[in-house]
Amino acid sequence: MKILLINPNRYKFPPVPPIGLEYLAACLEHGGHKTEIIDLCFSENLYEDIDNALELFNPDITGITVRNVDTVLYHTNEFFLDELKDIVKHIKSKHGLKVIIGGTGLSTNAEGVLEYLDADFAIVGPAENTLNELLNEIGNSGNTKKIWHGRLRNNIKCSRSPFKVDYKRYFESGGIAGFETHKGCTSSCVYCIEANSRVFFKNVHDVISEIKMFVDIGYKHFHLCDSEFNENLEYAIDFCSAMKESGLDIKWAVYMKPSEFSRRLFRLMKETGVYLITLTVDSYQKCTAYWSDIEKFIFTAKSCGIKVAVDFLTGFPYEDENHILECIGTLKRLQPDSVSINTFIRLYKNLQITNIILGDSKLREHLSGNIDDSTFIKPVFYNQIGTEKLEQLIGGDPLFRIEGPERSVNYIRV
Ligand code: SF4
Repeated sequence: MKILLINPNRYKFPPVPPIGLEYLAACLEHGGHKTEIIDLCFSENLYEDIDNALELFNPDITGITVRNVDTVLYHTNEFFLDELKDIVKHIKSKHGLKVIIGGTGLSTNAEGVLEYLDADFAIVGPAENTLNELLNEIGNSGNTKKIWHGRLRNNIKCSRSPFKVDYKRYFESGGIAGFETHKGCTSSCVYCIEANSRVFFKNVHDVISEIKMFVDIGYKHFHLCDSEFNENLEYAIDFCSAMKESGLDIKWAVYMKPSEFSRRLFRLMKETGVYLITLTVDSYQKCTAYWSDIEKFIFTAKSCGIKVAVDFLTGFPYEDENHILECIGTLKRLQPDSVSINTFIRLYKNLQITNIILGDSKLREHLSGNIDDSTFIKPVFYNQIGTEKLEQLIGGDPLFRIEGPERSVNYIRV
């Protein structure tokens, strides 16, 4: 079959290349299908570009990535699904084509997003193998279930078609390249749609060959696209050791969680070009061991010469100001390079935190947004510590930056 893969993500703070589609394109071609990617990130005439791509390639079906439902930030929230819904409608009504959707945004509520967009099929989770199966089934019977759950195997082949996307344009507009070493996360943060998802690791040498393709044409700055790099300490060390051996001269930034780390890992990360770690921290029901791990993490990473930017989510149900003040005090003492602090928690259907809040009428008083819609597709936030109060708690310390009003990311601002 011929499938046109569409990136409708036009958010530019910063612009993010559609690497999920690049992995998919390679897997689809491996499965005997023909693909093209149309990247609408910089499009100035959306529907003309879509029509031209469809007429030129003449696909049998289309696939659209739903990277995010919205920006997740309260102050400058942008909701993406209305524009996507119009694109789906246009493709179906003007071109008579079916639309498959996939991407991280589906993990928020696959049925809800499918219905909201009026798309034909959805793949939740990794689609690399599953999209081939779905296309084959559509080709054979034309009739199949609407929602599919993606599965991969460990050591998955990491082929990728990166040159269907105009990287020059991304770099010129403040974006950088990305790569991933695995999918999924075994941690259970109550507010995160990735929590307790199955983990699939990629073959280390395949990932390095992929980075080399970029280095060979002059792109040397990367952000790792894993939810958290250190899902498994042994794998992270193996990856960095192989990177060191490859001699590739790159600089890269990563997300990490405060577990599964060691001085050896940080040394290797530094030696292979890691200059910035964004460390995910939250204050929800944490024991002293959690905070002492954070202390050890920040101290060790910094002593190895890597900057640490903390993303700190706080103001959870049943937390009082004193508790938050105590956490802020700890972070002041630990002195990472910056702390982005957020007290607006975006709720999604079926998240543990959503169920806790919905079960308590007192907590429900702190909800704002589209609170009467049980799909949680349109933004709903829980907030009990307003911005003014948070400013007071921070006490003007320049280490802290309230997340939201300014649209940027750590690799640009730290
Ligand atoms: S560690 Fe990060 S990716 Fe994993 S569940 Fe927590 S917030 Fe989500």
